[in-house]
Amino acid sequence: IDDVAKTDKDIADLIQAELARQNSHIELIASENWVSKAVMAAMGSPLTNKYAEGYPGKRFYGGCSCVDEVETLAIERAKELFGCEYANVQPHSGAQANMAVFFAMLQPGDTVMGMNLDHGGHLTHGSAANMSGTYFKPVYYGVNDDGVIDYEEVRRIAIENKPKLIVAGASAYARVIDFKKFREIADEVGAYLMVDMAHIAGLVAGGQHPSPIPYADVVTTTTHKTLRGPRGGLILSSAENAKKFNFNKAVFPGIQGGPLMHVIAAKAVCFKEALQPEFKEYAKMIVENAQALCKGLQKRGIDIVSGGTDNHLMLVDLRSLGVTGKQMENLLDEVNITCNKNAIPNDPQSPFVTSGVRLGTAAVTSRGMKPEDMDKIAEAIAMTLKEEGSQEKAKAIVKELTDKYPLVG
Ligand code: PLP
Repeated sequence: IDDVAKTDKDIADLIQAELARQNSHIELIASENWVSKAVMAAMGSPLTNKYAEGYPGKRFYGGCSCVDEVETLAIERAKELFGCEYANVQPHSGAQANMAVFFAMLQPGDTVMGMNLDHGGHLTHGSAANMSGTYFKPVYYGVNDDGVIDYEEVRRIAIENKPKLIVAGASAYARVIDFKKFREIADEVGAYLMVDMAHIAGLVAGGQHPSPIPYADVVTTTTHKTLRGPRGGLILSSAENAKKFNFNKAVFPGIQGGPLMHVIAAKAVCFKEALQPEFKEYAKMIVENAQALCKGLQKRGIDIVSGGTDNHLMLVDLRSLGVTGKQMENLLDEVNITCNKNAIPNDPQSPFVTSGVRLGTAAVTSRGMKPEDMDKIAEAIAMTLKEEGSQEKAKAIVKELTDKYPLVG
C-alpha cells in the first residue's frame, strides 16, 4: 500500500479504508472470504505484466517459460485437489467458466435447464437477464415448499422439456445436492450434466460435501468463495470430455483473450493450500459454524429456509418478522455486520427488496471464529431485528469479536 500511496494517495486511502471496514465488520456474505497473504502476494506480483495467449507449450507470445510452469502447476494441483483428469485454470470468473462450457457444449437455441434464480440458482444458469437465458432456451426447476430440491419434480420437468444440458449447482441453497440423482435424470433424458460447484468448492475439496466429479460431464467453479483463492473461474472434466468438447478452445480463443497469469499463480497457491490437511479442518469448521449460527438464530425465533443448513450458508426467512431483506441488510450494516438481501423461494417481494437475507460462514471461519462466536453473532443479529434501541449493544458484541480476531492486512 505504501507503493500505491507514493503514486496515488486517493486509491491508497480507499484501500486502507476498505481494510479497516473489513477489519471492523463481521463478514457474512456467503460468497466472500479472506485469502491468505500468499494468495494476495501472488496476485500482486510481476506476473501481471505478462501476455500469454494460448496454453503451456503453445503460446502466441515469447518469454512464457516461467508462466508456462506456473500454469502447469496450477492445472496439476487442481486435478489432484478434485481428483479429475482435466483442468482449465484460465476463466477470469465463474461466469466466464460457465459461458465457455455453454459455448463448447451447446448451439444457440438449445434448451438448458437450471435452477430458478429466485429459488437459489445463478444468473448464468439460464436467467433471462444473462446470455445463458437469451442465446439458449431456459427451463427452470426449483425447490419445494420446504425449501429443498424435489428430484421427482426435476425429473418431470426434464422429461417434459428434454434439455440438452442440465445445470446442477446454486448460489443460495443450504442443503446437500444429490449429484447422482441429477446424473440419473440427465441420462434418462439424454442431457449433458454440468455442475457449477462455485459456492461449495472448498467444502468439496475439504471433504464436507460429496464431489460432483464422478457424476458430471463437466464441473465449473469459482476459486474465491469457500475455496479461499483469488477471484476467478475453473473448469474440470475427464480427459475424454475435454477432448470431445474442446473446453480449452472455448475459453481461448472462444470467449477470452490473454489469461491473467498473476491470478493463475494465486490459484496455484490456493490449490496448494487446499491440499494441506489443515484445509480439511477449515472446511469442517465452516459447516460447524454455519450450523451454530443457524441454531443461534432459530432459538431466538428467526426462521431459516429448509429449517437448517448442511453447508456454509443459510437463507433467513424474514416474513414472520415483518422486515424485508433490504431493511435487514441495512439494519445489520449499521451494527457492522455485512450480509446481502436474497430472495427466498416464492418471495412475495421484488428482487430489489426480497423477504430474506443470505448468511455464510466462510469468511468468519477464515478469521478464526468458532461455534461459540456464532452464537454471539446470532445474538447481535436477533437483537438488531427485534429490540428497539439495541444498536449500541449489538455493535459492542461485534467489536468484541472483531477485536478478538483481528485481520492481518
Ligand atoms: N456460479 C455460481 C453458483 C455463483 O454463485 C457465482 C457467483 O456468485 C458464479 C457462478 C459467478 O461467479 P463470478 O462472480 O466469478 O462470475
